[in-house]
Amino acid sequence: MAAELIDGKKVAADIKEGLKKDIAELKSKGLKPGLAVVLVGQDPASKKYVASKEKSCEDLGIESLGHKLPADASQETVLRLVDDLNKDPKVHGILVQLPLPKGLNEKEVMDRISPKKDVDGFGPDALGRLVLDEPGFLPCTPHGAMKMLEAYNIDPSGKHAVVVGRSIIVGKPLAMLLLRKNATVTICHSRTPNLKEECLKADILCVAVGRPKMVTGDMVKEGAAVIDVGINVNEQGKLVGDVDFDEAAKRAGYITPVPGGAGPMTIAMLMHNTVQAAKMAAGMKI
Ligand code: NDP
Repeated sequence: MAAELIDGKKVAADIKEGLKKDIAELKSKGLKPGLAVVLVGQDPASKKYVASKEKSCEDLGIESLGHKLPADASQETVLRLVDDLNKDPKVHGILVQLPLPKGLNEKEVMDRISPKKDVDGFGPDALGRLVLDEPGFLPCTPHGAMKMLEAYNIDPSGKHAVVVGRSIIVGKPLAMLLLRKNATVTICHSRTPNLKEECLKADILCVAVGRPKMVTGDMVKEGAAVIDVGINVNEQGKLVGDVDFDEAAKRAGYITPVPGGAGPMTIAMLMHNTVQAAKMAAGMKI
């Protein structure tokens, strides 16, 4: 393998370590950061994600307040819970695990979360601030991707970055963050006719599609930094990303593994946002 591995687990551990000082300072003021985690239904992947977020909270001394609702919970029930959490002073961050069961209006639920507690950074206030270059909660996965680049001294300025995927939670905000760091950014999606050609231009190639081996080795420019956000289970039941790791690693300069790349970083940035929210509630500088 020619590429250097970007160790998301290690970068995430360093970020979490750095949060401990802030958490101790908050505790000295009598405040324990609190994250409300709302899980609606029994989706196995969602249950797993929620469990690892709760574990991270526990490890750091953040209060994790779990709220489980049945899959047939009504829109009103979910909204009422969000309203209660918005008012609860013990809750500094609110996370509603997506996807919500069919029949529920996700957008209405996400929009209901107070901007002061929107630690996922998916709401209109957070996304508007991102576009306006104003301080606010950054969406965790894209923020985590940027932190991995930073940790390996990969400066996007003046580079050509290609983001494959344009979702609200990954692709679009990641493109904005790369732009903020002065990359020239191309966003590709399902209607992009010449994906290989576009990817080959990338000094920084970020992929968030949800399809194994979507990006093959011959789509990677020599020396590129490859950030693979995808999470898929392949035919062998193994967790894999969107990039053909073995082939891409022969050409890339840097590459993230799956698992052990974007996943742990997402959780670390969620912890970061929760601590920021608690600091804001305590009137501390962030
Ligand atoms: P979405 O399904 O919301 O978006 C997928 C994007 O991929 C869309 O913009 C879609 O284009 C694009 N796409 C689909 N097919 C193609 C194609 N053939 N060529 C180019 N683009 C294509 O997914 P998410 O953004 O929510 O998630 C993407 C992946 O990242 C998933 O595997 C998910 O599990 C993972 N993920 C990982 C996280 C982590 O913590 N590591 C966190 C969040 C997500 P179009 O808009 O045109 O439909």
